[in-house]
Amino acid sequence: MTWDHPVDILVTFDHDAESAFLQHENGVHRGPSYLSHGAFGAKVGMGRVLEVLDARGIPATFFVPGWVAERWPDSVRTPAQHGHEIALHGYLHEYPTAMVDAAEERMVLSRGLDALTAVAGTGIVGYRPPGSMYSNATVELLREFGFRYGSAMQDDDGPYLHPTASGRPLVEIPCHWQLCDDLFGWHSDVRMTPSQVEETWTTELEALGRYPERAYVLTLHPHQIAHPGRLAMLDRVLDRAIELGGRFRTCADMATETLDRMGR
Ligand SMILES: [Zn+2]
Repeated sequence: MTWDHPVDILVTFDHDAESAFLQHENGVHRGPSYLSHGAFGAKVGMGRVLEVLDARGIPATFFVPGWVAERWPDSVRTPAQHGHEIALHGYLHEYPTAMVDAAEERMVLSRGLDALTAVAGTGIVGYRPPGSMYSNATVELLREFGFRYGSAMQDDDGPYLHPTASGRPLVEIPCHWQLCDDLFGWHSDVRMTPSQVEETWTTELEALGRYPERAYVLTLHPHQIAHPGRLAMLDRVLDRAIELGGRFRTCADMATETLDRMGR
């Protein structure tokens, strides 16, 4: 089979390490063994996913909480040095929907951005909220901070501009749960095997090319995807995307192209 239309492929990672577990309401998840599940992403996972990407010359976007940059700086500097995009994912994986007001959310964004910039350098233009959940205040705050794009909505499968009152354009790069490695089971109740996930991701990849200007956005976590069986499955999905003629790009590049295309 071939595509009717070329598809943009965005390989994105939420590099949570222990941070997502530290926010868990169940105290068991904040104990050392659960935290080590997250630490695997920084200790072992990052090196493995970089090998997979670099072997194919695929640029990726890594969304990183500021706290993770402070705790595991090399796991953030290394993908940056390999030419991948670094973007923001909160400070300690705080959910915007759990914050009391916009002032608290602004403070957390600022703290996360400062911590991440100190390790990864300037030029951070993108944000994905922890849990991929905006609050009612998030989009306006992203404009205030000068972000170029956000990535958390599920209402399209291609990029678009958020409606704006203030004039500063903000691109949305939607990401859908079916293309997230949470399908292996972690936060969600769904627990698929690697072959079930592969079928889900490949089926969507092949069908998306029926429609013009679509984006295939994988949401992965180094601590989830880098176990060898799962990573071998990702190898096959990426090779299929290459075979089909997928156009790999970072979220920052897609946001810039979207703004150019819309004359903003
Ligand atoms: Zn996360």
